[in-house]
Amino acid sequence: ATDLVKTFTVKTSPFAPPRQLRAVDGVTLRVAPGETLGIAGESGCGKSTLGKLLLGLLPPDGGTISYNGQALTAGSRRERLTLRKNLQMIFQDPFSSLNPRMRVGDIIGEPLIIHQLVPKTALRDQVLQLMGKVGLLPEHLHRYPHEFSGGQRQRIGIARALAASPQLIVADEPVSALDLSIQAQIINLLQELKREFGLAYIFIAHDLSVVRHMSDRVAIMYLGKIVETGEREAIFSNFRHPYTEALLSAIPRIGGAADGRRIILQGDPPTPLNPPPGCPFHPRCPYAEQICSTIVPQLTEKGHGHLAACHFSEKLYSRG
Ligand code: SF4
Ligand code: MG
Repeated sequence: ATDLVKTFTVKTSPFAPPRQLRAVDGVTLRVAPGETLGIAGESGCGKSTLGKLLLGLLPPDGGTISYNGQALTAGSRRERLTLRKNLQMIFQDPFSSLNPRMRVGDIIGEPLIIHQLVPKTALRDQVLQLMGKVGLLPEHLHRYPHEFSGGQRQRIGIARALAASPQLIVADEPVSALDLSIQAQIINLLQELKREFGLAYIFIAHDLSVVRHMSDRVAIMYLGKIVETGEREAIFSNFRHPYTEALLSAIPRIGGAADGRRIILQGDPPTPLNPPPGCPFHPRCPYAEQICSTIVPQLTEKGHGHLAACHFSEKLYSRG
């Protein structure tokens, strides 16, 4: 995906004129086959909008998305359908994303029918096999979503996403609505499925310890922009952006900078309605200087595909 932009028009009050909200602002990223890219940031940073853009569930206002070199929006209807089959999504709330009037077997079987992947006679067996892969039982076939716990509903959502044999799954906060013990089960299931099917994931979450557990590479988002990205360990052990430092210092076990300093996030949480000029993080950044409120820092290479967008990255994070 290159230079993605998505703007929404919102009305904040019946008397105010509508305003433009730039949810995703010039994001470029790529995911290799079999790789997990974690996307992290506070709520409202544009992570979910980005996920939907990547799958073609929302049209971008600018930028391009391509898959194996083919633009997602180009080609015939049939070609686009084939492309879509390879890209699936798992949602945060598996209840609202599952049709309450459909039985589990029909929910999981639907993509198989849409993409004509199995003959009718083999449909039931294929659905049962998918249910087995995600830890559901054959007797669940004829039940409805509301008869299941949150964790089991997420298993149904995963089986449905798997049904079309995708190559990439976008998982948007797939465990954040679940109890802690159930979170671990679902995370482990996703890891097993990745190994078994060679899946690539875009794993969207605000919980950095979950992102660290799942990801090969990580992108940190703030107000619709990627402010830092790189290999997992580069981000967690050798971060080059104050916002990443702030997010990490909120997790005691991972800790802040090597010298033990900690950034506590202060000020208002970000809202894309009134994005600040210059560096989007400057109103909350403890290291901000004058230039930060006027000039937007660009993502620049820190080595081995590690990029950060901060005017003072070198000064702040040079550790000999
Ligand atoms: Fe902070 Fe300035 Fe760097 Fe932005 S550019 S993160 S405000 S030091
Ligand atoms: Mg979200």
